[in-house]
Amino acid sequence: MSAIGVDVGGSKLLAVHIADDGSVVDEYRSAGPAMGGGLVAAIGTVFAGLGVGEEIAACGVGIAGLVDHATGVFIWGPHVAGTGVPVREALQSRLGVPVVVANDANAAAVAEHRLGAGRGSEAMLMFTLGTGIGGAMILGGSLYRGRRFAGEFGHTRLVEGAHECDCGRRGCWETEAAGPALERMAGEMIEADPTGSLATALGDAPVSGPAISAAAIAGNAEATALITRVGRAFGQGLSTIVTIFDPDRVVIGGGLGSIGEMLLDPIRQAADETRYADDHIELPPIIAADLGERAGAVGAGLLALEAAGDHE
Ligand SMILES: [Zn+2]
Repeated sequence: MSAIGVDVGGSKLLAVHIADDGSVVDEYRSAGPAMGGGLVAAIGTVFAGLGVGEEIAACGVGIAGLVDHATGVFIWGPHVAGTGVPVREALQSRLGVPVVVANDANAAAVAEHRLGAGRGSEAMLMFTLGTGIGGAMILGGSLYRGRRFAGEFGHTRLVEGAHECDCGRRGCWETEAAGPALERMAGEMIEADPTGSLATALGDAPVSGPAISAAAIAGNAEATALITRVGRAFGQGLSTIVTIFDPDRVVIGGGLGSIGEMLLDPIRQAADETRYADDHIELPPIIAADLGERAGAVGAGLLALEAAGDHE
Protein backbone atom coordinates (compact mmCIF):
# COMPACT_ATOMS: atom_id res chain seq x y z
CA MET A 1 0.00 0.00 0.00
CA SER A 2 1.31 3.44 -0.77
CA ALA A 3 0.02 6.97 -0.54
CA ILE A 4 0.51 10.48 -1.80
CA GLY A 5 1.23 13.24 0.69
CA VAL A 6 0.99 16.85 -0.36
CA ASP A 7 2.22 19.89 1.58
CA VAL A 8 0.68 23.16 0.45
CA GLY A 9 2.63 26.09 1.84
CA GLY A 10 2.60 29.81 1.22
CA SER A 11 5.25 29.74 -1.46
CA LYS A 12 5.58 26.16 -2.59
CA LEU A 13 3.84 22.87 -3.01
CA LEU A 14 5.69 19.64 -2.28
CA ALA A 15 4.25 16.20 -2.92
CA VAL A 16 5.73 12.83 -2.02
CA HIS A 17 4.80 9.31 -2.94
CA ILE A 18 5.42 7.21 0.18
CA ALA A 19 5.50 3.48 0.82
CA ASP A 20 3.53 2.02 3.74
CA ASP A 21 6.52 2.47 6.07
CA GLY A 22 6.63 6.18 5.27
CA SER A 23 9.75 6.00 3.11
CA VAL A 24 9.75 8.41 0.19
CA VAL A 25 9.57 6.74 -3.22
CA ASP A 26 9.38 9.90 -5.30
CA GLU A 27 8.77 13.60 -4.90
CA TYR A 28 7.45 16.49 -6.92
CA ARG A 29 7.66 20.23 -6.32
CA SER A 30 6.01 23.26 -7.77
CA ALA A 31 6.08 26.93 -6.82
CA GLY A 32 3.20 29.21 -5.90
CA PRO A 33 0.53 26.53 -5.54
CA ALA A 34 -2.72 28.14 -4.71
CA MET A 35 -2.47 31.55 -6.25
CA GLY A 36 -4.62 31.95 -9.31
CA GLY A 37 -5.25 28.41 -10.48
CA GLY A 38 -7.21 27.31 -7.43
CA LEU A 39 -6.20 25.05 -4.60
CA VAL A 40 -7.71 21.80 -5.85
CA ALA A 41 -6.42 22.31 -9.39
CA ALA A 42 -2.93 23.01 -8.03
CA ILE A 43 -2.99 19.83 -5.94
CA GLY A 44 -4.35 17.92 -8.94
CA THR A 45 -1.28 18.84 -11.00
CA VAL A 46 0.98 16.95 -8.61
CA PHE A 47 -0.53 13.62 -9.54
CA ALA A 48 0.41 14.15 -13.14
CA GLY A 49 3.82 15.34 -11.93
CA LEU A 50 4.40 12.19 -9.89
CA GLY A 51 3.07 9.94 -12.62
CA VAL A 52 1.40 7.58 -10.14
CA GLY A 53 -1.61 5.46 -10.84
CA GLU A 54 -3.65 2.65 -9.37
CA GLU A 55 -1.20 1.59 -6.66
CA ILE A 56 -2.17 4.62 -4.56
CA ALA A 57 -4.37 3.68 -1.61
CA ALA A 58 -4.94 7.12 -0.18
CA CYS A 59 -4.00 10.76 -0.37
CA GLY A 60 -3.24 13.24 2.40
CA VAL A 61 -3.01 16.99 2.04
CA GLY A 62 -1.46 19.33 4.58
CA ILE A 63 -2.32 22.99 4.07
CA ALA A 64 -0.86 26.07 5.77
CA GLY A 65 -3.86 27.60 7.49
CA LEU A 66 -7.10 26.65 9.17
CA VAL A 67 -8.24 23.18 8.18
CA ASP A 68 -11.36 21.44 9.45
CA HIS A 69 -9.95 17.95 9.79
CA ALA A 70 -13.34 16.31 10.29
CA THR A 71 -14.87 17.66 7.08
CA GLY A 72 -11.71 18.05 4.97
CA VAL A 73 -12.50 21.70 4.27
CA PHE A 74 -9.78 24.33 4.02
CA ILE A 75 -11.41 27.15 5.98
CA TRP A 76 -8.95 29.98 5.40
CA GLY A 77 -5.28 30.86 5.70
CA PRO A 78 -3.28 34.06 5.45
CA HIS A 79 -0.73 32.55 3.05
CA VAL A 80 -2.84 30.30 0.80
CA ALA A 81 -5.65 31.60 -1.41
CA GLY A 82 -9.14 30.15 -1.02
CA THR A 83 -11.89 30.18 1.60
CA GLY A 84 -14.13 27.26 2.50
CA VAL A 85 -12.59 24.98 -0.14
CA PRO A 86 -13.97 21.40 0.11
CA VAL A 87 -10.58 19.85 -0.65
CA ARG A 88 -11.38 16.32 0.52
CA GLU A 89 -14.63 16.05 -1.39
CA ALA A 90 -13.15 17.48 -4.59
CA LEU A 91 -10.04 15.30 -4.54
CA GLN A 92 -11.87 12.14 -3.53
CA SER A 93 -14.17 12.35 -6.51
CA ARG A 94 -11.23 13.08 -8.76
CA LEU A 95 -8.91 10.35 -7.43
CA GLY A 96 -11.31 7.67 -6.23
CA VAL A 97 -9.28 7.07 -3.04
CA PRO A 98 -9.77 8.26 0.56
CA VAL A 99 -8.43 11.76 1.10
CA VAL A 100 -7.41 13.28 4.44
CA VAL A 101 -6.86 17.02 4.88
CA ALA A 102 -4.86 18.45 7.77
CA ASN A 103 -3.06 21.57 8.88
CA ASP A 104 0.48 21.44 7.47
CA ALA A 105 2.27 21.79 10.81
CA ASN A 106 0.08 19.08 12.32
CA ALA A 107 1.06 16.80 9.44
CA ALA A 108 4.75 17.63 9.95
CA ALA A 109 4.44 16.88 13.68
CA VAL A 110 2.91 13.47 12.97
CA ALA A 111 5.76 12.61 10.59
CA GLU A 112 8.46 13.68 13.04
CA HIS A 113 6.73 11.87 15.90
CA ARG A 114 6.39 8.60 13.99
CA LEU A 115 9.61 8.58 11.98
CA GLY A 116 11.87 11.45 12.95
CA ALA A 117 13.15 13.70 15.70
CA GLY A 118 10.00 13.26 17.82
CA ARG A 119 10.06 9.48 18.18
CA GLY A 120 9.04 8.41 21.68
CA SER A 121 8.03 11.91 22.74
CA GLU A 122 5.10 12.37 25.12
CA ALA A 123 5.09 16.16 24.91
CA MET A 124 6.51 17.52 21.69
CA LEU A 125 6.19 20.93 20.12
CA MET A 126 6.72 21.22 16.38
CA PHE A 127 7.35 24.43 14.51
CA THR A 128 7.61 24.88 10.77
CA LEU A 129 9.47 28.05 9.84
CA GLY A 130 9.04 29.38 6.35
CA THR A 131 6.59 31.89 4.91
CA GLY A 132 5.12 31.94 8.42
CA ILE A 133 5.39 29.97 11.66
CA GLY A 134 3.34 26.81 11.78
CA GLY A 135 2.89 25.16 15.15
CA ALA A 136 1.69 21.79 16.41
CA MET A 137 1.57 19.86 19.65
CA ILE A 138 1.85 16.15 20.35
CA LEU A 139 0.56 15.77 23.91
CA GLY A 140 0.37 12.41 25.67
CA GLY A 141 1.72 10.97 22.42
CA SER A 142 -1.24 12.23 20.36
CA LEU A 143 -1.81 15.19 18.10
CA TYR A 144 -3.71 17.92 19.96
CA ARG A 145 -6.11 19.89 17.75
CA GLY A 146 -8.22 21.75 20.33
CA ARG A 147 -11.68 22.32 18.91
CA ARG A 148 -10.19 22.40 15.42
CA PHE A 149 -7.43 24.95 15.08
CA ALA A 150 -4.99 24.69 17.99
CA GLY A 151 -1.37 25.67 17.52
CA GLU A 152 -1.52 28.85 15.47
CA PHE A 153 1.46 30.17 17.38
CA GLY A 154 2.65 32.31 14.48
CA HIS A 155 -0.30 34.64 15.01
CA THR A 156 0.19 35.23 18.71
CA ARG A 157 1.94 38.38 19.91
CA LEU A 158 4.91 36.97 21.76
CA VAL A 159 7.61 39.51 20.96
CA GLU A 160 7.65 43.23 20.40
CA GLY A 161 6.74 44.19 16.86
CA ALA A 162 4.25 46.23 14.91
CA HIS A 163 4.59 45.02 11.37
CA GLU A 164 1.50 44.12 9.44
CA CYS A 165 0.88 40.39 9.17
CA ASP A 166 -0.64 38.52 6.21
CA CYS A 167 -3.53 37.68 8.56
CA GLY A 168 -4.53 41.37 8.62
CA ARG A 169 -3.39 42.12 12.16
CA ARG A 170 -0.22 43.72 13.47
CA GLY A 171 2.60 42.44 15.60
CA CYS A 172 2.15 38.68 15.09
CA TRP A 173 5.18 36.61 16.11
CA GLU A 174 5.73 35.41 12.55
CA THR A 175 6.25 38.97 11.31
CA GLU A 176 9.41 39.07 13.45
CA ALA A 177 10.57 35.47 13.46
CA ALA A 178 10.03 33.82 10.04
CA GLY A 179 10.77 34.25 6.35
CA PRO A 180 9.04 37.62 5.84
CA ALA A 181 11.09 39.18 8.68
CA LEU A 182 14.26 37.87 7.08
CA GLU A 183 13.27 39.32 3.72
CA ARG A 184 12.18 42.66 5.21
CA MET A 185 15.42 43.08 7.14
CA ALA A 186 17.51 42.05 4.14
CA GLY A 187 15.64 44.57 1.97
CA GLU A 188 16.35 47.31 4.50
CA MET A 189 20.01 46.32 4.69
CA ILE A 190 20.41 46.33 0.93
CA GLU A 191 18.64 49.67 0.61
CA ALA A 192 20.92 51.17 3.24
CA ASP A 193 24.03 49.72 1.61
CA PRO A 194 23.40 48.86 -2.06
CA THR A 195 27.04 47.93 -2.66
CA GLY A 196 27.46 45.99 0.60
CA SER A 197 28.32 42.33 0.90
CA LEU A 198 24.71 41.11 1.16
CA ALA A 199 23.64 43.08 -1.93
CA THR A 200 26.65 41.69 -3.77
CA ALA A 201 26.00 38.13 -2.60
CA LEU A 202 22.36 38.19 -3.71
CA GLY A 203 23.15 39.90 -7.02
CA ASP A 204 20.08 40.01 -9.22
CA ALA A 205 18.31 37.24 -7.30
CA PRO A 206 15.08 38.25 -5.55
CA VAL A 207 15.44 39.01 -1.84
CA SER A 208 13.93 35.71 -0.68
CA GLY A 209 14.35 33.58 2.42
CA PRO A 210 16.06 30.76 0.48
CA ALA A 211 18.49 33.20 -1.21
CA ILE A 212 19.40 34.80 2.14
CA SER A 213 19.81 31.36 3.74
CA ALA A 214 22.03 30.25 0.88
CA ALA A 215 24.19 33.38 1.28
CA ALA A 216 24.50 32.71 5.01
CA ILE A 217 25.50 29.09 4.41
CA ALA A 218 28.09 30.32 1.91
CA GLY A 219 29.63 32.41 4.70
CA ASN A 220 28.17 35.87 4.09
CA ALA A 221 28.41 37.67 7.45
CA GLU A 222 25.49 40.05 6.87
CA ALA A 223 23.17 37.20 5.88
CA THR A 224 24.34 35.25 8.93
CA ALA A 225 23.58 38.24 11.17
CA LEU A 226 20.04 38.38 9.79
CA ILE A 227 19.50 34.67 10.43
CA THR A 228 20.73 35.26 13.99
CA ARG A 229 18.27 38.13 14.50
CA VAL A 230 15.34 36.06 13.27
CA GLY A 231 16.48 33.10 15.35
CA ARG A 232 16.66 35.27 18.47
CA ALA A 233 13.15 36.63 17.87
CA PHE A 234 11.94 33.05 17.50
CA GLY A 235 13.72 31.96 20.67
CA GLN A 236 12.30 34.82 22.73
CA GLY A 237 8.77 33.84 21.76
CA LEU A 238 9.50 30.15 22.15
CA SER A 239 10.50 30.59 25.79
CA THR A 240 6.91 31.61 26.61
CA ILE A 241 5.46 28.60 24.81
CA VAL A 242 7.93 26.29 26.55
CA THR A 243 6.79 27.73 29.88
CA ILE A 244 3.18 26.88 29.01
CA PHE A 245 3.72 23.33 27.73
CA ASP A 246 6.94 22.12 29.40
CA PRO A 247 7.65 19.90 26.38
CA ASP A 248 10.23 17.10 26.37
CA ARG A 249 11.50 18.42 23.03
CA VAL A 250 10.98 21.16 20.49
CA VAL A 251 11.38 20.19 16.83
CA ILE A 252 12.08 22.87 14.22
CA GLY A 253 11.34 22.22 10.55
CA GLY A 254 10.16 24.05 7.46
CA GLY A 255 12.19 25.67 4.69
CA LEU A 256 13.89 28.21 6.95
CA GLY A 257 14.20 25.63 9.73
CA SER A 258 16.20 23.36 7.43
CA ILE A 259 19.15 25.78 7.70
CA GLY A 260 20.00 23.95 10.95
CA GLU A 261 22.46 25.00 13.67
CA MET A 262 23.00 28.49 12.29
CA LEU A 263 19.37 29.18 13.20
CA LEU A 264 19.03 26.78 16.15
CA ASP A 265 21.93 28.26 18.13
CA PRO A 266 20.46 31.79 18.42
CA ILE A 267 17.04 30.22 19.09
CA ARG A 268 18.45 28.24 22.04
CA GLN A 269 20.41 31.21 23.36
CA ALA A 270 17.48 33.63 23.28
CA ALA A 271 15.09 31.06 24.74
CA ASP A 272 17.57 30.36 27.52
CA GLU A 273 18.03 34.07 28.32
CA THR A 274 14.34 34.88 28.50
CA ARG A 275 12.69 31.86 30.05
CA TYR A 276 11.00 31.44 33.40
CA ALA A 277 12.77 29.79 36.36
CA ASP A 278 15.95 29.10 34.46
CA ASP A 279 17.72 28.11 37.68
CA HIS A 280 15.17 25.39 38.31
CA ILE A 281 13.89 24.14 34.95
CA GLU A 282 16.09 22.81 32.17
CA LEU A 283 15.54 24.10 28.67
CA PRO A 284 14.20 21.17 26.64
CA PRO A 285 16.22 20.02 23.62
CA ILE A 286 15.54 22.28 20.63
CA ILE A 287 16.40 20.18 17.61
CA ALA A 288 16.10 20.12 13.84
CA ALA A 289 13.41 18.08 12.13
CA ASP A 290 14.86 14.82 10.82
CA LEU A 291 12.67 14.82 7.75
CA GLY A 292 13.55 18.42 6.92
CA GLU A 293 11.14 20.28 4.75
CA ARG A 294 9.57 17.01 3.60
CA ALA A 295 8.00 16.46 7.03
CA GLY A 296 4.64 18.02 6.15
CA ALA A 297 4.20 16.03 2.97
CA VAL A 298 5.31 12.75 4.57
CA GLY A 299 3.01 13.36 7.55
CA ALA A 300 0.06 14.05 5.27
CA GLY A 301 0.77 10.73 3.55
CA LEU A 302 1.00 8.91 6.90
CA LEU A 303 -2.34 10.37 8.04
CA ALA A 304 -3.85 9.18 4.75
CA LEU A 305 -2.45 5.66 5.15
CA GLU A 306 -3.83 5.53 8.68
CA ALA A 307 -7.27 6.63 7.53
CA ALA A 308 -7.22 4.11 4.66
CA GLY A 309 -6.22 1.37 7.11
CA ASP A 310 -9.04 2.32 9.46
CA HIS A 311 -11.56 1.95 6.66
CA GLU A 312 -10.44 -1.48 5.47
ZN1 LIG B 1 -0.88 37.15 11.87
